[in-house]
Amino acid sequence: MFATFRVVAGRLPQPDNRDEPQHMRYVKNIFLFFKKWAPKPIEAEQLLQHSKVFCMAPWVHLHALPDGKVYTCGMAATHTNHSIGDVHKNKDLSKAWNSYAMKRIRRNMLTGQASASCKNCYEYEQLCNSSERLQFNQDFKHHVGRVLSTSFWGGLSETSILHLDIRFSNQCNLKCRICNASASSAWREEAIQMGYIQDHFPNVVRATNDEASFWKLYVKLLPHIEKIHFAGGEPLLMEEHYKTLEHLIAIGKTDTHISYNTNFSTLRFRQWASVEQGGAKHTHTSGRSPGHLLWYRYNGKHF
Ligand code: SF4
Repeated sequence: MFATFRVVAGRLPQPDNRDEPQHMRYVKNIFLFFKKWAPKPIEAEQLLQHSKVFCMAPWVHLHALPDGKVYTCGMAATHTNHSIGDVHKNKDLSKAWNSYAMKRIRRNMLTGQASASCKNCYEYEQLCNSSERLQFNQDFKHHVGRVLSTSFWGGLSETSILHLDIRFSNQCNLKCRICNASASSAWREEAIQMGYIQDHFPNVVRATNDEASFWKLYVKLLPHIEKIHFAGGEPLLMEEHYKTLEHLIAIGKTDTHISYNTNFSTLRFRQWASVEQGGAKHTHTSGRSPGHLLWYRYNGKHF
């Protein structure tokens, strides 16, 4: 920082002598130079209404996949390779919150620059004027105030994560044709035969290889959560999903908005009886097709 300051100061017009007005001009020039580069005040409302790249997701949300990779959102996870963290390397999910990649995305959004990880939202908007970005801005506009505390480099001192989309593993009982081995453990054998994965691919892929440490850090996020989305694998077969619900109940967070991607093939798992007891409000199922279409989609499974 000081080295840069010296280089810049050396290039500014030098005062002829040290009399007060010239000296003051010299100092003023230096300040003017830095002012040009200083962060502009954030116009949060303007961003929400007019920006083509601003999105609330990096200020409220994290998306974690069974392979441990963390993304700004599902859209970035599904269509790009731009992860912002890795739970296998760092068990603390919140480390992704202020990772270099996450800060760069926030900074891009505040300065009107496109991010490679968000290209699918831009394309959706061109095609149909609708996108995850617009949905995030709609759903979380009441939290736009937290954007104001973003540092010049994109860091956020507010570390509470309000919306979590978490996939603890790829454990699943079905092999739907729309799916693959990374999202369903049931596809493993066929995926090996077809050469998509190698023999050493685990039977079940888990987001963390140190569950106890992960859990300790994960539950610290829950008191602040407003929305949580469970998917997988099949979340209704995952112990972590039920333990999360139990924890939310224990800490009195029963107003948490809960949603699922589930195949609805089972509503019972071990000692847990029904999702309703956990407070589920919204579900998305892959089984919307009737009769023979459902049979085809679920790869021969009868219901
Ligand atoms: S713009 Fe789209 S891809 Fe980027 S963070 Fe927002 S929702 Fe995700």
